[in-house]
Amino acid sequence: MPPHLLILGGTTEARELAAALAAHSAVRVTTSLAGRVTRPAPLTGDTRTGGFGGPEGLSDWLRAHHVDALVDATHPFARQITTNALQAARQANIPALVLRRPAWHPTPDDNWHPVPSLTAAAATLPALGPRVLLTTGRLGLSAFAALEDLHFLVRSVEPPAPPLPPHTELLLTRGPFILPDELHLLRTHRIDVLVTKNSGGAATAPKLTAARQLDLPVVIVERPPLPEDAVTVPDVGGALDWLGALGISGFPGSAA
Ligand code: NAP
Repeated sequence: MPPHLLILGGTTEARELAAALAAHSAVRVTTSLAGRVTRPAPLTGDTRTGGFGGPEGLSDWLRAHHVDALVDATHPFARQITTNALQAARQANIPALVLRRPAWHPTPDDNWHPVPSLTAAAATLPALGPRVLLTTGRLGLSAFAALEDLHFLVRSVEPPAPPLPPHTELLLTRGPFILPDELHLLRTHRIDVLVTKNSGGAATAPKLTAARQLDLPVVIVERPPLPEDAVTVPDVGGALDWLGALGISGFPGSAA
């Protein structure tokens, strides 16, 4: 039987890892999605959708499906599933890796306002300008709902969950985005301030370059910390190396 890898997905890196494994090795890959997006981007290999029912449910799933290793490639802000994944892997006695793309870092020309939460982001906005580009995703926008004097352009893949601020314009679209388009968006909507999570990655980074070029402030929500015991790599290549070093026959580069 080929070895079975469970990838916890919902990111570009998860898709790329599944595709890389399909191309290079005799391994069975299942990618798990939370099911938040109605039309997820296509995935190579098997997929399953929906929560597992906490760490116990996940560890039961790992045992029942004879999973040999787990890679948590979820979004840097998906804190609960990462905690659950490491606990479940310990319970099921299988190795687990966290694939986490590096955070963005400001250059000397950036005007960043780091904050710990969406609520803190909302509190900083009135002092920074009346027209806001909000790119923090479709959930949690209730934090901004009381800001009645500001105008929000909300960009997200799916319609955001209410309550929303009273002056909200929606822009439903999926990245990647490119610099000329981001500059055009900021200019035509006369944006004063950008709000983003520190998600990292190339696909959505041009908005930061555009804000820098236009000298706009950026309110940036810092990442939640990773569990202390997490073994972490920054990219798909690192995940493939980790799989190879496990010594499980069938994983790429494995000598076993
Ligand atoms: P979360 O708060 O860490 O997870 C909440 C619960 O959702 C988990 O306890 C788990 O339910 C379920 N879940 C999360 N990811 C799952 C997965 N890949 N497969 C199966 N169940 C999953 O996560 P979140 O912030 O709501 O994010 C949900 C998903 O969207 C993640 O997979 C993440 O990669 C993706 N995403 C999140 C963000 C973000 O900003 N948070 C941005 C882009 C993409 P059970 O306890 O029942 O197992």
